Amino acid sequence: MTVVTRFAPSPTGRLHKGHAFSALFAWSRARAAGGRFLLRIEDIDAGRCRAEFVDGILEDLAWLGLSWEEPVRRQSRHMDDYAGALARLDALGVLYPCFCTRRDIAAEIARAGGAPHGPDGPVYPGICRGMPPGERARRLAAGGSHALRLNVAKALALHGPLSWRDERAGVVAADPPSLGDVVLARKEIPASYHLAVTLDDHLQGVTLVTRGEDLFHATHVHRLLQALLGLSTPRWHHHALLRAADGTRLAKREGAPTLASMRGAGVDPAALRRELGFP
Ligand code: GLU
Repeated sequence: MTVVTRFAPSPTGRLHKGHAFSALFAWSRARAAGGRFLLRIEDIDAGRCRAEFVDGILEDLAWLGLSWEEPVRRQSRHMDDYAGALARLDALGVLYPCFCTRRDIAAEIARAGGAPHGPDGPVYPGICRGMPPGERARRLAAGGSHALRLNVAKALALHGPLSWRDERAGVVAADPPSLGDVVLARKEIPASYHLAVTLDDHLQGVTLVTRGEDLFHATHVHRLLQALLGLSTPRWHHHALLRAADGTRLAKREGAPTLASMRGAGVDPAALRRELGFP
């Protein structure tokens, strides 16, 4: 089977060394197997993404010596695909509208004396899950702004236990409840990271999803979405994150040098590749 990998940055800033490592990792895995390497721009969040950062990504990756297949998929141009997937999930009865504000959620967690802590913070306490149908219909008819959440318990009941294979962690039992009823369509954007990334990897025929281990837990819910939507299941490789000398994550680090600034300072891309372990 041809190996198909991808690098899927969000154009919310300039790329730094951590991104370079991740892109080189995906690229080298495809190359070593005589496979294909794709680039995908994850720009559904119009408020945070900027066109100049898309240009910057292309520039920086070309400077690093990478090449990718055209056309580059830009998620913002495929909102219909995400709407179609949401309609299929809705037909399965596994979605519900959530009218909560952040403040509603925080108040409920405080009232309940806490909430299980998921990888992305406290798990949604399910406020809107049990909303009486009449009230739900009334609020929808009144145009109440809402997100769509996945009813994880209901979704799991449609499927037996699921597992997925990570090249570092081995076979992993899928544990979607650890993330709770995740948002699949946001109030202001009719899709979410979990939905778009899972559908796109399928539509683009990705066979090996490589990304940082900070996204390891997200895969629990991606595996469930694949089962619900009848999508193909790739293998995963969640690689360790590149850290600064003091142990902080480069992505989070204020002022981590960007590839653009390194280029400006005359850094040799071949030397950077060697430093990152990709001669
Ligand atoms: N767009 C995501 C990010 O920049 C990565 C998505 C993925 O690799 O699954 O963090």
